[in-house]
Amino acid sequence: MSQFEGKAALVTGAGSGIGRATSLALAADGAYVWVTDFDKASADRTVEMIVGQGGRAVSVKLDVSVEKDWQTAFGRIDSGEEALSILVNCAGKSILADSFTMPLEELRRVMAINVEGAFLGMKHAIPRIAKSGGGAVINISSIMGLKGKARMAAYCASKGAVRMMTKAIALECADLKNNVRVNSVHPGVVDTPAWAKHDADEAGMMLGSSGKQASATLDVHAVAKALVPIGVAASAEEIAATVCFLASDVARHITGAEIVIDGGMTAD
Ligand code: NAP
Repeated sequence: MSQFEGKAALVTGAGSGIGRATSLALAADGAYVWVTDFDKASADRTVEMIVGQGGRAVSVKLDVSVEKDWQTAFGRIDSGEEALSILVNCAGKSILADSFTMPLEELRRVMAINVEGAFLGMKHAIPRIAKSGGGAVINISSIMGLKGKARMAAYCASKGAVRMMTKAIALECADLKNNVRVNSVHPGVVDTPAWAKHDADEAGMMLGSSGKQASATLDVHAVAKALVPIGVAASAEEIAATVCFLASDVARHITGAEIVIDGGMTAD
């Protein structure tokens, strides 16, 4: 029997990158997946891929920073037959910007998606996961939640907050003995469409002048070559495999922990 048979999972930011790969991996192992993204068309595409591989999933439009969207999504989940066991908070936004000229609004938007989004997910999902008998929450943070990087103050602040909120809520669940585990995953450089959303100026900020000349957008392979000790980016599927491990019963004793997947970036 597949390890997530009879379990339902909700994944945010599931229309792309790590969220899509995680949805596919959970479904391949038997989970019924609520595929959510604020771009409904991309969530629909992920569902098509899951159904194409013989899995079960439904798409939901969900902007993680809007509490009403969470309430609407859970209204649907509550009226369905599949009890929720797994939440993966994956939706995220990164910006590269000079901290001394960056508008405050940009920092607030990053915090609204990365921090408030993860908080709202846990606020609404954990009581339901507990009611279904227990399960797991996996928050996708970043190595930028463990170390600083110039011109990434907003992103670093948000991912550090996700890391500590994970630990605090893990202990709150432990106090309640509600059988819900909460952990964070900290990728380094992952080959997803996120990198191409940054322009040439941001490539320069990340890599210096050589990166600026090399590419009109931020090329993930150039970034990996420059910054990852083992020289290559992780695949989204490699991150998804760790999420599945943390969601599974094999990880029964792991809560409040952080798993780093960074090809050695934080080893020094
Ligand atoms: P991605 O390919 O850009 O996927 C992120 C998805 O989240 C996109 O579909 C995006 O939609 C969606 N999204 C953005 N804001 C949202 C919101 N408010 N509500 C719901 N969905 C929203 O990015 P990824 O690389 O897979 O990143 C996934 C997570 O991993 C993020 O939390 C990121 O910070 C983290 N991470 C990534 C890397 C990496 O190297 N890729 C490294 C460390 C950590 P749009 O495309 O329309 O924006």
